[in-house]
Amino acid sequence: MNTVLIGSQWGDEGKGKVIDVLTDKADVVVRYQGGSNAGHTVIAEGKKRVLRLIPSGILHEGKVCVIGNGVVMNPLDLIEEIEAMRATGVEPKGRLFISTRTQMVMLYHRALDKAEEAARAPGKKIGTTGRGIGPAYAAKVSRTGLRCGDMLTAGFLDLVREQVEETNAKLRMLKAERVDAGDDIEVPGCTVKGYQLDADELVAIYRTVQEKLSPYVRDTVPMLHEAKKAGKSILLEGAQGTMLDIDFGTYPFVTSSNPTSGGACIGSGLSPRDIDCVVGVIKAYTTRVGEGPFPTELYNAVNLQDPDGKTMAERGHEFGAVTKRPRRTGWYDAVIARYAQQVNGVDYWALTKLDVMDVFPKIKICVAYELDGRRIDYMPSSAAELARVKPIYEEMDGWMCETSNVTRMEDLPPKAKAYVDRLVELSGGKLGILSIGPARESTLRIAL
Ligand code: GDP
Repeated sequence: MNTVLIGSQWGDEGKGKVIDVLTDKADVVVRYQGGSNAGHTVIAEGKKRVLRLIPSGILHEGKVCVIGNGVVMNPLDLIEEIEAMRATGVEPKGRLFISTRTQMVMLYHRALDKAEEAARAPGKKIGTTGRGIGPAYAAKVSRTGLRCGDMLTAGFLDLVREQVEETNAKLRMLKAERVDAGDDIEVPGCTVKGYQLDADELVAIYRTVQEKLSPYVRDTVPMLHEAKKAGKSILLEGAQGTMLDIDFGTYPFVTSSNPTSGGACIGSGLSPRDIDCVVGVIKAYTTRVGEGPFPTELYNAVNLQDPDGKTMAERGHEFGAVTKRPRRTGWYDAVIARYAQQVNGVDYWALTKLDVMDVFPKIKICVAYELDGRRIDYMPSSAAELARVKPIYEEMDGWMCETSNVTRMEDLPPKAKAYVDRLVELSGGKLGILSIGPARESTLRIAL
């Protein structure tokens, strides 16, 4: 049984916890897109861990973990993550494999990310996390990227030097275009002087990377197909979420990859015929980080101060796992859910953070949008249109009591059950998992 797990909103749906729960039934866990800008939070045995690149399957003894070709992998971050794992007694060697086809995010991509953002005029800035993810995906498509398999060849360090020199030429141009005041860009982990990187320094850094990571690199396509043939279960985990997909999200306020379920095949080498089940992780309300339209938005750190939205942010601890940026919050949006169901083929929902809604006397659900005076129930393809829509709400009674200790669906307060049923009814698919707290134990497994 091979399962794809996706985020259904703008990321941060609590995928980390659901993946951790589903890993029980998996033999192999594959991360299929994104980079180390996304982070999953897993709480296991009372310890909180933020995983950025390594699938959380690593925390389960005996599970094999794969970083697929759809990922852009920053080797320095990965080394840090491997060492942090070791420090807590988990040894990734022998269980963690990186595809030879996985693209690498290099320090010079970070420099480009910073310099390109600094050259953008105010109001035109993308608000990137500055981790080089965008430039690394751009290099992949421009066919200048370095892949992990290159580390296994003798010419690897010459390729690094070549790329640093080419990047320095681009940086000189970007310096001339710089809009921001200030002298230089900063790239943690290497020296930058007058917008120039030191090729010798970078070659030395990547020599160490090559030594440390080469043992993890292999062609993971035959490996996955052999696992499949042997009847093993594969869990493919996406980062971010549907509304951040480069094609199906709120372009241009999106990430550089395909977090949707189609991306799982492209990013792993399994075929669409190999996928048996798609699980959509979705929160009982909505959040978004960064710029871009958000129809049901109630609260943000800038200009919206709705008290219900603030309660969601506080009770849900809505701050980025890696970036620490506060998240924007709002009511559940069933238009998004239906769209996510369609583009991903969601079989089962993993509905998370229902407990955050325990304190509201009335709860709203967005059932459709009004666009330029017309009711629509589909997702507009343009961000400008989505920014103009007004949510059409339906209101339900809240249950006003704690749900975190519930252990069976039957024991859920009737009004909470009615809310969950309505969300599923409006969204399509079936309910597979209900999550009512951050811990592994606060999970009701209904169909998965
Ligand atoms: P991901 O990127 O989708 O894995 O989401 P994050 O890890 O960034 O955010 C999920 C956060 O919500 C983490 O702090 C989790 O511990 C927490 N979380 C997950 N499920 C639940 C839940 O059902 N209730 C509550 N209160 N917190 C949850």
